[in-house]
Amino acid sequence: MSTFHLVSLGCPKNLVDSEVMLGLLQESGWQLKESAEDADVLIVNTCGFIQAAVEEAVDEILDLVKIKSEFPRKYVVVTGCMVQRYGQNLVAGLPEVDLFVGTEGEKDICSLLAEMQSGSLQNKVHLPELFLMDSKVPRILSTPFFRSSLKLTEGCNNRCSYCMIPSIRGKLRSRPIDDLVLEMQHLQKSGVKEISLIAQDLTAYGRDLGNGVTLPALLESLLAETDVPWIRLMYLYPSGVSDELLTLIRENRRILPYMDIPFQHVSDSVLRRMNRHYSSFDLCRFVERVRDAVPDIALRTTMMVGFPGETEEDVQQLLDFLREYRLDHVGLFAYTNEEGSASEFFEDQCPEEVKKERLDRAMRLQADISERKLQSYVGQTLPVLVEGLSRETDLLLEGRSQYQAPDIDGCVYINDGMAAPGEIVNVHITEAQIYDLVGAVVGQEGNNAG
Ligand code: SF4
Repeated sequence: MSTFHLVSLGCPKNLVDSEVMLGLLQESGWQLKESAEDADVLIVNTCGFIQAAVEEAVDEILDLVKIKSEFPRKYVVVTGCMVQRYGQNLVAGLPEVDLFVGTEGEKDICSLLAEMQSGSLQNKVHLPELFLMDSKVPRILSTPFFRSSLKLTEGCNNRCSYCMIPSIRGKLRSRPIDDLVLEMQHLQKSGVKEISLIAQDLTAYGRDLGNGVTLPALLESLLAETDVPWIRLMYLYPSGVSDELLTLIRENRRILPYMDIPFQHVSDSVLRRMNRHYSSFDLCRFVERVRDAVPDIALRTTMMVGFPGETEEDVQQLLDFLREYRLDHVGLFAYTNEEGSASEFFEDQCPEEVKKERLDRAMRLQADISERKLQSYVGQTLPVLVEGLSRETDLLLEGRSQYQAPDIDGCVYINDGMAAPGEIVNVHITEAQIYDLVGAVVGQEGNNAG
């Protein structure tokens, strides 16, 4: 029996691809090894949308190449977005790698590894035509059993000027509603309590299919044909959020009062150069509209500072917006000038030290806002999905409220009461920290979201 070791880098969408490779390999008799030293084939599923991710991937590959140098009979295989982005150009720089597989080639992983091991591989780089997974493709979850993601689409038809994803992942391809319902039912049977719906732009779901295939239509079917208690909406696009969607969220507590919705900036001139299709006025109206519709909703966004041509006035406008609208979670990043992006040759590129200073200022402000906002939960009782023993200490349990997404937001430390991983319990919040809450279990939440 052949064995493999798999390292998965990048976003939750890439993790689903890794889980599909896990499923395909295990279904055809391969055995997964936790340590690279114990495996015949060493696979790293890469991210490639920004240089920092590419550097992380190269470091990971070189670690595996070092192990191969000690055990020459091993193979190193590189898959994912970095391969899709750079293709054949990787061969010269990474000669020790035996096989490169692009994002659309992961379905062929078993036959490619067999050819590689038999020495009959025609080409080291495998970049096939566009592929879209479906519910029949085997998938082994790598997340805790009680939470997972459902990938609605591949690719993106937007053309944000700083973004490489459309050139890596291709045009928008949506999965049919009935196929997504089937996969969600599979996940429910395997014990999943929280499902994050993911895509490059969740609000674009179904635009390529037409026939009334939309995000609200999908949610109606998922609510009707599954009992998963927590459905979380990730990667929404501001101008794509309909009143129909807001009504669904308000009237169905299984769709969590939570939105991950990247704004990227609030200055009209910066948004225009980013080729984002909304204005500062739209964003202000949007936040008010969403909070009117779902008063307790938690809003997570992403903001980028240092975009070419960004002025001090633009930065002040961004900081004023954060101060006024006090968003729950804000991921702050500095612009990176990506080779091949539309903005690569934009004039007025920001010096790195200026980007850093603007980023630090925004992060200090948001940390203060986050801490004050979390104070509002003290004294409340919140449904919390228990993750297990805290990573900080065995004396505490750790979980997340419906206002906190996995891996990117804070958590709830439970300092009194017992509960098992995967349980949704009521926790009375007694304390708030900068990003986390503390509280005690006060009862079962049952299986339906609070
Ligand atoms: S919406 Fe914009 S930033 Fe997001 S993947 Fe598409 S092009 Fe990139």
